[in-house]
Amino acid sequence: MKRAVFPGSFDPITLGHSDIINRGLQLFDEIIIAIGVNADKKYMFDLEDRVSFIKTLYRNEPKIKVETYTGLTVDYCKENNAQFILRGLRNPADFEFEKAIAHTNRVLSEIETVFLLTSVKTSYISSSIVRDVMRNGGDYKLLVPKTVVKK
Ligand code: ADP
Repeated sequence: MKRAVFPGSFDPITLGHSDIINRGLQLFDEIIIAIGVNADKKYMFDLEDRVSFIKTLYRNEPKIKVETYTGLTVDYCKENNAQFILRGLRNPADFEFEKAIAHTNRVLSEIETVFLLTSVKTSYISSSIVRDVMRNGGDYKLLVPKTVVKK
């Protein structure tokens, strides 16, 4: 059984995330979408909302689980018998950042990180831009799945 963890803040989930998840479903038997909880970080959406947007989106997809975690992603993967971490790459900045994390995770564990390049149509989307559009009254619905609603 190939199980991957897709870790992130998902504040909120965007069409970029869902593109990676949908394509990851072709590669893995199960994907755990794991929302990392960082006490020092300020989020726009409560943890419950971030979980609920994703759970509702994938309510008919038995291969997807939605959970929250604290601590190291590799420890979370081991606890859940996941052999892979799934990440999306949008641009060279993502690559540099992700490379260091993936190398570190590889030193700490046997877990492999699998990167998918973003689709052209969603490569410009980020949660931070979505939050900015929301704050300023823009049409955020063009950037996120239907289950995401502004507070
Ligand atoms: P983090 O706080 O870990 O950066 P995010 O929720 O922003 O969490 O992102 C989680 C993962 O989704 C990361 O691998 C990130 O590169 C990827 N991702 C974010 N936006 C997109 C996008 N538009 N297309 C593809 N992947 C994306």
